[in-house]
Amino acid sequence: MAERVALVTGGNGGIGTEICRQLGQSGYRVITTCLDAEKENLAGWQAELNAEGVDAAYVECDVADFESCARMARQVEESHGPVDVLVNVAGITKDAFLHKMDADAWAAVLNVNLNSVFNVTRQFVVGMRERGFGRIINIASVNGQTGQFGQTNYSAAKAGMHGFTMALAKEGARKGVTVNTVSPGYIDTAMTAAMPDDVREAIVAQVPAGRMGQPADIARVVRFLAADDAGYITGANIPVNGGLFCSF
Ligand code: NDP
Repeated sequence: MAERVALVTGGNGGIGTEICRQLGQSGYRVITTCLDAEKENLAGWQAELNAEGVDAAYVECDVADFESCARMARQVEESHGPVDVLVNVAGITKDAFLHKMDADAWAAVLNVNLNSVFNVTRQFVVGMRERGFGRIINIASVNGQTGQFGQTNYSAAKAGMHGFTMALAKEGARKGVTVNTVSPGYIDTAMTAAMPDDVREAIVAQVPAGRMGQPADIARVVRFLAADDAGYITGANIPVNGGLFCSF
């Protein structure tokens, strides 16, 4: 069988890079999307992963823009062949209490975190159905499950991602296309490093595991869900949060 191809949006970020690394170690060719390859030094990102033996590539795309995603999909399929595994990781925060939130902060977070999942998945789901195999994994957040102060936009977007997951899981089940959500708790990346120290410390104090998670904790679950023999797991949300929020 040809090497499987995995597309990871935001695959150059803190969590995304580790997802690319672990999928690459499992033998997938991994391609990340990025907004601006030069600005984000994607050549350096690729060289680092290649040096570890990971078959990694990148393509520019704004996941908030449907036409940009359509162009990206054509480029990826021409250069690398059909995409078997799609991991929707790209995300941003623009926190503010709702009574102070402007319309731009609402729209940007909904566009990059939630509308992106439609914009990107729509490009690949037809091919996955035709080939009878696909793995779609959406990275949401514990804050989509619980809500969080200052994050009406982010919590709504992340909760919406799982609604998308459940509905598409039903549509894809007979076509070999699984769709699942992974909901990280607080993970040690630039996104959480940007939080004020006292806020971060107060959050860690509430985590039963007593620490933040590592990107590898999330990547391990993605690798598991992406596997060829994970075909009966679909429509699930897998929390990875150190016990911060337990539910069933
Ligand atoms: P990073 O900020 O490190 O990575 C975010 C990625 O999203 C970057 O690669 C960035 O690309 C990409 N991105 C942002 N906007 C766009 C856009 N318009 N088009 C294309 N790509 C875009 O964040 P993390 O690795 O920490 O987070 C990854 C995911 O995990 C996010 O969805 C986040 O919400 C979620 N998450 C993170 C948690 C944490 O504690 N860190 C907790 C729970 C969920 P570029 O570099 O080109 O800008």
